Amino acid sequence: MSEADVLHRVVVVGGGFGGLQAVRSLRRAPVAVTLVDRRNFHLFQPLLYQVATGALSPAEIATPLRVILKRQKNVRVVMGDVREFDLERRRLVLDAPENGEQGTVISYETLIVAAGSRYSYFGHDEWRPFALEIKSVESTLAVRRRIFTAFEAAEIEEDSKRREAWLTFVVVGGGPTGVEMAGQIAELAHDTLARDFRSVDPRHARILLVEASERLLSTFPPRLSARAAQTLERLGVTVLLETSVVDLDDQTVVSKGPDGKSKHVPARTIVWAAGVVASELAGALAAASGAELDRTGRVAVGPDLTIAGHPEVIALGDMASVHDATGNQVALPGLASTAMQQGRYAASLVRRRVRGEPSQPFRFVDKGNLATVGRAHAVAEIKGIQASGMLAWLIWLSVHIFYLIGLQNRLLVLTRWAFSFVTRGRGARLITGESGPTTVADGSSTGARQG
Ligand SMILES: Cc1cc2nc3c(=O)[nH]c(=O)nc-3n(C[C@H](O)[C@H](O)[C@H](O)COP(=O)(O)OP(=O)(O)OC[C@H]3O[C@@H](n4cnc5c(N)ncnc54)[C@H](O)[C@@H]3O)c2cc1C
Repeated sequence: MSEADVLHRVVVVGGGFGGLQAVRSLRRAPVAVTLVDRRNFHLFQPLLYQVATGALSPAEIATPLRVILKRQKNVRVVMGDVREFDLERRRLVLDAPENGEQGTVISYETLIVAAGSRYSYFGHDEWRPFALEIKSVESTLAVRRRIFTAFEAAEIEEDSKRREAWLTFVVVGGGPTGVEMAGQIAELAHDTLARDFRSVDPRHARILLVEASERLLSTFPPRLSARAAQTLERLGVTVLLETSVVDLDDQTVVSKGPDGKSKHVPARTIVWAAGVVASELAGALAAASGAELDRTGRVAVGPDLTIAGHPEVIALGDMASVHDATGNQVALPGLASTAMQQGRYAASLVRRRVRGEPSQPFRFVDKGNLATVGRAHAVAEIKGIQASGMLAWLIWLSVHIFYLIGLQNRLLVLTRWAFSFVTRGRGARLITGESGPTTVADGSSTGARQG
């Protein structure tokens, strides 16, 4: 009989921020852990927008799960796509990647599901191929291709109207990702590429940031939202508030502003950074357990993050909606720090159970909120203290380097940033993959920061 047969078996689905934290926090526990992910790497999503704009390469923000966990002897990593849960028999079913192996069954005593979230197109899935999202490595590389191809196409376009459309970039959604993307595209056009073309002047690019509500960064205090908007305008971004996208295709974005009038904007590059829904595994858990889903598809969990009637099943991170002891939903930000705290808590819950101790409810510690707006400019709210500009940017930089996994990636990213800061250059401007409208066959469900 192997050790795994006698130990308490914990299966963790998702090697993102929450799942990986749960696995690592179980390193000294007398349990046999199986980590299942459809990807073979952990992705540091907060820096994806830098990959989209050529500042970083994907491998600098992604680390293979086997590398991260190679010294943790109580973990087995399985690459596979989980598709259903059999909660009664305490097992899940997954499809192994590429080799045609389907229906592999894994049994557990405790199940932790942290499968993240994805972008929602508000019922307009037909927009997906035209308005790409910053979510997975594939979709981000497709965005990078679109952005850099647009400048190349403008360079050889002789018709002025069509050239203008190539040089118009629309970012939909004024949350942190939209703000970061718009700021980076502006810096790319006005700084990095400014002298690289002969027929076209990239500084003539128009960058529109479209936000349906009355301010950007709605999870930040209004003062910081205003600062972010001012900085973006200074960088050359046109911020359109109280404006909704009502239609789009590969040539045009149709928006409706506060005056209620529709506006057609010819634009060849559209980036989607609006609306988040939970991973489809939240729905699978709800179907298997009878738990409720909220309007963004997150599965309801109790104060100890377990599913009602199934104390052995924990759901956490972007895909879970926590309820207190009286059944009221607790508002928690859809951030990496929330998922990581919940991952650590889930591990402590498992350890307590194995020791036969009662559980304590999960307590969230607000670690603050950060977003970069541009070079040397960020906004930050930490423990009620608000900061913007260079100071906030330095905090942002330190936090991101600290949480990035692996010494090698930390050093590489720091070196890249130092180099870009001095030269205003970007080292990863390759145009790869096929051109034209793209449906990114992503298959992953990486998290999308909410708000
Ligand atoms: C562009 C972007 C920028 C962001 N910036 C920030 C930021 O600056 N600060 C911040 O705090 N947060 C940020 N976030 C949000 C943060 O990344 C998420 O809140 C966090 O990733 C949630 O962690 P999670 O563990 O719930 O899910 P994730 O980290 O998304 O992990 C989910 C994992 O589950 C796997 N998975 C999904 N479905 C399956 C399946 N069926 N079978 C097997 N595996 C599966 C996925 O491959 C993935 O590895 C950002 C998000 C995005 C998209």
